[in-house]
Amino acid sequence: MKIIFHDDYKNSSYASDTAAAEGRMESIMDLLSKERGYPILKPVAAGIEDLLRAHTSEHIDRIRQDENLFRMALLSAGGAISAVEIAFDGEPAFACIRPPGHHASRDSRWGFCYFNNMGVALLKLRSKGRIKGAFVLDFDAHTGDGNIDVLSEYPEIKILNPFADDRNAYIEKIEKTLNKIKGIDIIAASAGFDSYEKDLGKKLKRFDFYLIGRLLKKFSKRLCNGRRFAILEGGYYLKDLGKNVLAFCQGFAD
Ligand SMILES: [Zn+2]
Repeated sequence: MKIIFHDDYKNSSYASDTAAAEGRMESIMDLLSKERGYPILKPVAAGIEDLLRAHTSEHIDRIRQDENLFRMALLSAGGAISAVEIAFDGEPAFACIRPPGHHASRDSRWGFCYFNNMGVALLKLRSKGRIKGAFVLDFDAHTGDGNIDVLSEYPEIKILNPFADDRNAYIEKIEKTLNKIKGIDIIAASAGFDSYEKDLGKKLKRFDFYLIGRLLKKFSKRLCNGRRFAILEGGYYLKDLGKNVLAFCQGFAD
């Protein structure tokens, strides 16, 4: 499995929110880079034409006002594009990117997100006729309203933001939904680790991230030749963030 990462993601000066917190990327990459079997691939920035599939030009111009932020947001979207392309070619990928994207809508943004990384990535492949149907699991603690806004006009792209009172019901909900899915070319995850029991969402244990990764692997093999990728969204409990991402990757990788 490939890890998509760029050293510039360590730049914590692009914003003053918790996604931009110093040490956040390091907490993940310090662990992943020590693991065997996870080669790291450096992405290039997305182009404006990539953003325009998911956003209005007015929205892009507003983000462009802040040069440092704009550069980071383009590089983050580029990381998501790398992940989707690698996955399409047959190898799973995890993009360790920031800023996150699932709260960025076509013409607005909030929640530490600027461009919709998931939308930019999927719509790029779709525009080239390489994929039509996709399943997006968003397991961040917060509903990915941006993903929904950007992707809802494509009925063949299905999105699940699972909601359940406890962790067992949460995992069950994911499995039940995947059991009903058909006609997809790729499985994608908006991977938010703030659903962790010690993070904002106060729900999932580390092992649950492993289980989610494993479910996505299993169903991607059944439904779409194993094509799957995940991109980082939230996750703010830095003490355990790397361990949780690693658990997910261990379930997700071959
Ligand atoms: Zn979140």
